[in-house]
Amino acid sequence: MTRAYNFCAGPATLPAEVLQQAQEEMLDWRGTGMSVMEMSHRSDEFVAIAQTAEQDLRELAGISDDYAVLFMQGGASSQFATVPLNLMRGKSPADYVNTGIWSKKAIAEARRFGEVNVAASSEEQGFTTVPDQASWKTNPEAAYLHYTPNETIGGLEYDFIPDSGDVPLVADMSSSMLSRPLDISKFGLIYAGAQKNIGPSGLVVVIIRKDLLGHAQSGTPTMLDYKVIADNDSMYNTPATYSWYLAGLVFKWLKAQGGVAAMGEINKRKADKLYGYIDNSDFYANPIEPRFRSWMNVPFTLADDSLNSAFLKGAEERFLLNLKGHRTVGGMRASIYNAMPEAGVDALIDYMKAFEKERAGHE
Ligand SMILES: *Cc1c(COP(=O)(O)O)cnc(C)c1O
Repeated sequence: MTRAYNFCAGPATLPAEVLQQAQEEMLDWRGTGMSVMEMSHRSDEFVAIAQTAEQDLRELAGISDDYAVLFMQGGASSQFATVPLNLMRGKSPADYVNTGIWSKKAIAEARRFGEVNVAASSEEQGFTTVPDQASWKTNPEAAYLHYTPNETIGGLEYDFIPDSGDVPLVADMSSSMLSRPLDISKFGLIYAGAQKNIGPSGLVVVIIRKDLLGHAQSGTPTMLDYKVIADNDSMYNTPATYSWYLAGLVFKWLKAQGGVAAMGEINKRKADKLYGYIDNSDFYANPIEPRFRSWMNVPFTLADDSLNSAFLKGAEERFLLNLKGHRTVGGMRASIYNAMPEAGVDALIDYMKAFEKERAGHE
């Protein structure tokens, strides 16, 4: 069996130990004679799996009882609508910061439900930086302030938590959840599609301050009302049971690694190595202002674009997979989430060095 290093932005690599455990439990979960996939979501067994996963997530992320944790479906993209439907609360506008493609999508969707104020944008800078918070035109009466802490496509990550005063702060943490320690108490709502740093696709985790429940605007579909989901322990209808179970295994794995503090150190080391090599080379480049470089998604270009396909082919031969950049950005992108071992980053750098040595001389 060959286990590749998979640098896909999402669905992304999962810890091998987690997949092995899922394999061992596939046909018979702990003597029940059933796969988790086949269990009733109302069974004692699955309810225990679900509650343990929530408890482990609460411990890992430091989520207090002031918050509800929801396991929903529809991915982060459906949260782009669910957030305004629940949090506009008759207020206007909702403030958004535009730092990349995911911000833009969130803004476009929110506009369908109410007035949106783009308080700041780095679009003119090609999304290579985060606008200084002092320049943001936020509104003290805003329903909420939404931002995207890690722009998965551009590889741009905030190195600070915005100060939103009394306005609830809302964050799309799809690609950065659990990658480093975070003060949850600063947030009104956090959502994260699972398939980057949490588990398989089909699941989106929502962490919401309880006072923000129960304000969905009229006409909100029942399934998108956070209060309905919270009151029913995320089982108003059939949840994504297997994804939830697998996310639970990932949470256990993260705890065994030492939690988010340990992950933060490892992730910083991985990112520093890769950016350090890119910066020291004349052959590779990354356009992001160094302070705001993502620890999770590292886009880079080659000095000569015509070498891209040769680079990707050579990488695939070494089982370094899915390094092609997003179609809107071009070049390469290495996503190095929690589950990407440091050895995977080392293997990538070794290959980049070898490719540079072979090709740079031929120009
Ligand atoms: C991947 C991603 C999304 C979209 O996630 P889906 O679950 O596919 O809807 C949204 N925001 C960010 C920051 C992402 O990385």
